[in-house]
Amino acid sequence: MVSLSFIHSSNTLKHSLYSFTPNNKTLKPPKPKTTKIQSLLPYNRKPQLSGETPRVVVITSGKGGVGKTTTTANVGLSLARFGFSVVAIDADVGLRNLDLLLGLENRVNYTVVEVLNGDCRLDQALVRDRRWSKFELLCISKPRSKLSLGFGGKSLVWVVDALKSRQEGPPDFVLIDCPAGIDAGFITAITPANEAVLVTTPDITSLRDADRVTGLLESDGIRDIKMMVNRVRTDMIKGEDMMSVLDVQEMLGLALLGVIPEDSEVIRSTNRGHPLVLNQPPTLAGLAFEQAAWRLVEEDSMSAVLLEEQPKKRGFFSFFGGNLITKRHAKVYGY
Ligand code: ADP
Ligand code: MG
Repeated sequence: MVSLSFIHSSNTLKHSLYSFTPNNKTLKPPKPKTTKIQSLLPYNRKPQLSGETPRVVVITSGKGGVGKTTTTANVGLSLARFGFSVVAIDADVGLRNLDLLLGLENRVNYTVVEVLNGDCRLDQALVRDRRWSKFELLCISKPRSKLSLGFGGKSLVWVVDALKSRQEGPPDFVLIDCPAGIDAGFITAITPANEAVLVTTPDITSLRDADRVTGLLESDGIRDIKMMVNRVRTDMIKGEDMMSVLDVQEMLGLALLGVIPEDSEVIRSTNRGHPLVLNQPPTLAGLAFEQAAWRLVEEDSMSAVLLEEQPKKRGFFSFFGGNLITKRHAKVYGY
């Protein structure tokens, strides 16, 4: 479980230099800084990797536009920052955009199609992120190009097997960004996976699709399914215009990996090709992605509960899960 004591401020630093008097002017000690939101990254420990590696995780949803690619980019980079090696596969062939979100679009020279045609080696198709070298991107095909009909689940299994037998060793995580829908592209993307992250928004159409996808994943033998609830708005939940995370969890009955608030920074960072988790200072959504990544590593989950003991302070964190978001955390963010 992520302890929020990792969030710390630098307002306790005191310098003896303040007694120094240049040009006969006494330097006044600066006013104590207000508490800053800092990344969870200056951890005093690394998350414990559980399960067999490589962990092959498909990020899926059924409905399009709910945040699969955003989740793949942010969770993937968080994992790399934790020190794990990650290969993110963009299996959304028709509407490839993971490269754009990561700002790597100009560096994709080869794709899996060229590897399978024997035009290049697998490592030539892997694009290493310059910011976090443990993160690599692999695209299935060039944008707007059509895949050969022969490309299916078996081909993707071959790719994952090839990643496992790389000279430098298998990656810790293979994340597969799944296309929307439940047709051939979806089947291809889920075939090599052992576990799934189901992204949903708290609306009825997304939930219906998520429920359908859960059934399909289970019938494909993927039993380890966790959900990520994205684009959550406290104001709308308070006004009873949006389902709460607790409602979503009750409807889908899946373990909860993370809850991501609606955050305009997500759109801004998407357009800049700079995933949210790299933002300094971090935003709420960035922290939520980081925490979800931590839980993924440890095969942990969170619970959506209402903090009844704090009725006046109920806000975004009231449905985040009392075991995760402490009162101190709520105070840091002014909730
Ligand atoms: P998908 O891969 O499921 O089609 P994307 O990850 O491409 O979805 O996200 C669709 C759109 O929603 C993008 O414009 C993205 O910036 C936006 N988005 C995703 N998550 C959030 C969020 N938490 N807050 C605000 N906008 C978001
Ligand atoms: Mg997508």
